Amino acid sequence: MDRHKNEFLAVLGHELRNPIMALSAGLHFLKRRKDPEAAAEIHAQMERQVAHLTRLVDDLLDISRIDQGKLALKREPVALQAILDFAVEASRPQIEAAGHALAVERLDTPTWLHGDATRLAQVVSNLLNNAAKYTPAGGHVALCVRVAEGVAEIEVSDNGIGIPEPMQAEIFELFAQVKSPTERAQEGLGIGLALVKELVELHGGTVQLKHSAPDQGSTFAVRLPVLVAPIEERAAADVEA
Ligand code: ADP
Repeated sequence: MDRHKNEFLAVLGHELRNPIMALSAGLHFLKRRKDPEAAAEIHAQMERQVAHLTRLVDDLLDISRIDQGKLALKREPVALQAILDFAVEASRPQIEAAGHALAVERLDTPTWLHGDATRLAQVVSNLLNNAAKYTPAGGHVALCVRVAEGVAEIEVSDNGIGIPEPMQAEIFELFAQVKSPTERAQEGLGIGLALVKELVELHGGTVQLKHSAPDQGSTFAVRLPVLVAPIEERAAADVEA
């Protein structure tokens, strides 16, 4: 078996075992203790573990769908600001749990994309979650956005652990992780950035690690083509012309 596959299976086993162990401990506890307050807390913890397992499995399924060319995007005109708002709300719990300050820039003019809103929010949220995950507690995470020459650029930056130069070229490859499975302090399968890249490219865009250095943080940039005006408005303009 090739080395990457071996490593991946080791990481996968580890990633699945932790929440499963937490869930079985929770079940065991709930069976013995009837105290409602403690039970509610265990219940909330179990819900978080199930959500975590669901995310892992969803990411695995997405990667395999993309690999087989079976991931269908539901593209329509979508407001970029709505995508960014959705992503921020999805990632806020992780950012706040780590005690980071979050700075969010908003668009000053309405901007539309031809995209799958859920998938694009997933892209931005994955980058925000990584920023939160790879930044020591009490750091800074920022989301910036600008539109120029028909392209929207969304930037996610942090002041975290950064990525060493030799690893920067590989970071978007499937299963790439800076540390080997045994040294890792953070959970993850090394799928997130590969998924981000695939989803952005399916939208005709690009993603890039703009700059990063050990202990100096990282900045990722996603570029996506914008719609000059929503399709209905353009159609109306065409009729008038
Ligand atoms: P995962 O986080 O599950 O390991 P990803 O594909 O999202 O997988 O990221 C791949 C690797 O890139 C991570 O394991 C981590 O080493 C590195 N990385 C990603 N984002 C950041 C970041 N914002 N700061 C530092 N390292 C990062």
